[in-house]
Amino acid sequence: MNVMLKPVRPNLDEPQAIGQGLSDEEVTIRRKKEGFNELQEEKRKGAGAVFIDQFKDFLVIILNIAAVISAFLGEVESSIVILTVVLLNAALGTVQHVKAEKSLSSLKALAAPTATVWRNGQVVQVPSREVVTGDTLVINAGDYICADARILESHSLQVNESSLTGESLPAEKNEKFISADDIALGDRKDMVFSGSFVTGGRGKAVVTAIGMDTEIGKIADLLEHAKEKSTPLQERLDQFGKVLAIGITVICLIVFGLDVVRGRELTDSFMFAVSLAVAAIPEALGSIVTIVLAFGTQKMAKENAIIRKLHAVETLGNISVICSDKTGTLTQNKMTVQKFYADGKVFGHDQLQPGNQHHEKLLRMGLLCNDAMTAGGQEIGDPTEIALVNIGKQYGLDELAERERNQRIGEIPFDSRRKFMSTIHRIGHKQVMITKGAMDVLIPRISSIETASGIRTLTLQQIESIRQAGHAFADGGLRVLALAYKEIVPTIPGMAQEEGLTFLGLIAMMDPPREETEQAVADCVRAGIRPVMITGDHKITAIAIAGQIGILTDPSEAVEGKDIEKLADEELRNRIEQFSVYARVSPEHKIRIVRAWQEKGNVVAMTGDGVNDAPALKQADIGVAMGMAGTEVAKDASSMVLTDDHFSTIVKAVSNGRSMYHNIKNAIQFLLSGNAGAIFVVIYASLLALPVPFLPAHLLFINLLTDSLPAIAIGLEPHSKKVMKEKPRDKDEGLFSKRDIGQITLEGLLIAAVTIIAFRYGLSAENPAVATTMAFATLCLARLLHGFNCRSKESIFRIGLFSNIACWIAFLIGVILLNLVLTFGLFNAAALDKEQLSIIYGLAFVPFVIIQTGKLIFVKS
Ligand code: ATP
Repeated sequence: MNVMLKPVRPNLDEPQAIGQGLSDEEVTIRRKKEGFNELQEEKRKGAGAVFIDQFKDFLVIILNIAAVISAFLGEVESSIVILTVVLLNAALGTVQHVKAEKSLSSLKALAAPTATVWRNGQVVQVPSREVVTGDTLVINAGDYICADARILESHSLQVNESSLTGESLPAEKNEKFISADDIALGDRKDMVFSGSFVTGGRGKAVVTAIGMDTEIGKIADLLEHAKEKSTPLQERLDQFGKVLAIGITVICLIVFGLDVVRGRELTDSFMFAVSLAVAAIPEALGSIVTIVLAFGTQKMAKENAIIRKLHAVETLGNISVICSDKTGTLTQNKMTVQKFYADGKVFGHDQLQPGNQHHEKLLRMGLLCNDAMTAGGQEIGDPTEIALVNIGKQYGLDELAERERNQRIGEIPFDSRRKFMSTIHRIGHKQVMITKGAMDVLIPRISSIETASGIRTLTLQQIESIRQAGHAFADGGLRVLALAYKEIVPTIPGMAQEEGLTFLGLIAMMDPPREETEQAVADCVRAGIRPVMITGDHKITAIAIAGQIGILTDPSEAVEGKDIEKLADEELRNRIEQFSVYARVSPEHKIRIVRAWQEKGNVVAMTGDGVNDAPALKQADIGVAMGMAGTEVAKDASSMVLTDDHFSTIVKAVSNGRSMYHNIKNAIQFLLSGNAGAIFVVIYASLLALPVPFLPAHLLFINLLTDSLPAIAIGLEPHSKKVMKEKPRDKDEGLFSKRDIGQITLEGLLIAAVTIIAFRYGLSAENPAVATTMAFATLCLARLLHGFNCRSKESIFRIGLFSNIACWIAFLIGVILLNLVLTFGLFNAAALDKEQLSIIYGLAFVPFVIIQTGKLIFVKS
């Protein structure tokens, strides 16, 4: 799609637009005029629409029909109660929905995109929505462009504009190109557009349009709005709801038909059918899952893992392989220079000789071929480069002064595929190219070597001793950089190639593992998860670090990117499980690694930070982006963002994901077993031609009020460390196993049994309302107590009676509500005497006691 447009020329006469950025006052004035830099989102559903949506639920429709027919049959009171409860349910559902949505969008805001701009003479990061026209954007590889902007400065700047032009190849951008009016968007090389992202290089640009005025704003309607899909669990529950609805209708019809044939009064038969429907429908189920997910994701955000896609919460529990970057995730990303190698000798970081020209050159060139700064106590830039700035400072060299004196006139930025970078400087009257990067990629580009006695042609022996020194550094877990340079004669064409360089020296730096990494790796292994290291670093360095933290036990478990290239997909798949460390890997290899693990039946989490990582992050079952070091593009492609970039945070998130799944499952089990109890009682009464045991209102009261609270409390059960001793959940495993269904049925039968006993006892009294009231109260209490049973597979006496206070609160509120109903005779409740009341309480405890005893005997802790 090519969009024709009139170019918007920035007013480049504005001094602040090009120089040191806008002042805060200017930004405020412009913001007032222009508003925020955001696209008008599709309108979110209002509370009214959500409320109406609640009535579209098939199960609610059944209830409404029941209410209408009850009214026709003269059971006005029942229909009023049903309608009230349905309305109440819809109101609750709406509140929960709106709340959950709010909490999700607040999570998203935590991972909102940012932009780097000049403001008040300083480079700062601001949320993208706060960018105004006239701001000077600083753009780097991996950034999302958040506004339309005119290029002021560019260095190999390449931008992917596929969201605007459909062109998937990156476009080169350059300030020197001045586009004519009415030129196709894809050809406007002097502009970058909102919605595109930087695939390589860097530059500066002045913002010309924001928000709806940008090119993408003009076509915003054409954009796909990414909608939050239901999670697999929610989908499964929806499916389950549908099957349940059909099942209920069929059973109700059968019970109704049977009763009519048997000659029961029509009204009575109908009330049976309605009770059954009400008993079986787990009204609160959907909202409980939403609430638990919302609470859980908030908790995870506090623990530095931001869930961007809700389905990730469930998938976390299935993770069987975590592919993690080394630098910054497993290690501290605090590099310090430890050793040097120059002129055939190894030096400690404090052993360089002042006054030695060779040594000084090594330090100076390390500062020049470098974009990091440590101005004003702040360290800005790549930690590898910061380390070089810091060591320079130790020897009295200031990076800014050096760069001022030796102006940079050209550069080829660092690229994780090439693994090296070059800059060209004017040093005195000469032009000098400085190249720094991985030793193995630089050595083939070197033809001479700097020695104490001048520059000499490189011998094979010297190459060998450079290699040996580098490997010895790497063996100690150090990252090795090689530095080389050459003089360029501008009049000779082709001189600016990175070849025929003069070797200056090696610099080795340390990046120790994070303190918590070793423990997190051990936790992973215990939880049946295979931790795997992926790094661009040298194989020997990677083996050393991986060995320290327990990812690798034998060097044969390490493989290099270039070896992976030699393997066909099938071979890679067959051998993938042998490897725990993948070194010298380019982003392209990452996607093959993920696929191979997946094809072996694993559920894979993969970390990433660069633009090139995006495809692998998407391919992984859970893409994990780095919140601090990660690019916007990587964050966008991932389903989870780590705000602290730690590996241990992923492991914690897995533990949280597993616990949340357990808790949701327990809450559902609680609701279903309680409902099963009620169904069994109604069917029993119908088969034995007894009177209706419950009024629909009774069951609605239980399902919506006294059952909802314990269900939520179960969903909030504190996370048990034991979840990390289990194997990962099989991804094809259904929500409930046959054993679970057996357990639900058994628990339902126990609850039904005591309710039936109470009911039959009540029937012996004169007043039929006493029987109904006793059945209702026993069912309600037994289910409230059952809430404690469903907290865990283990007995509550083992996991701690008071370790989930929410469960107690839910229980007590339920008991109070029940007593209010009994005391005030609501829902036709009859007044009960002391004996009847003690029978109710006594019976209600029986299932609880049996189930807890069973757990104490049969469930091993
Ligand atoms: P990961 O983050 O994937 O664990 P990494 O950070 O070690 O890996 P890269 O940043 O791709 O991987 O670095 C790969 C190699 O490139 C390093 O081993 C180093 O030799 C070299 N290198 C890294 N940063 C720079 C830089 N700023 N300038 C020059 N060379 C660099």
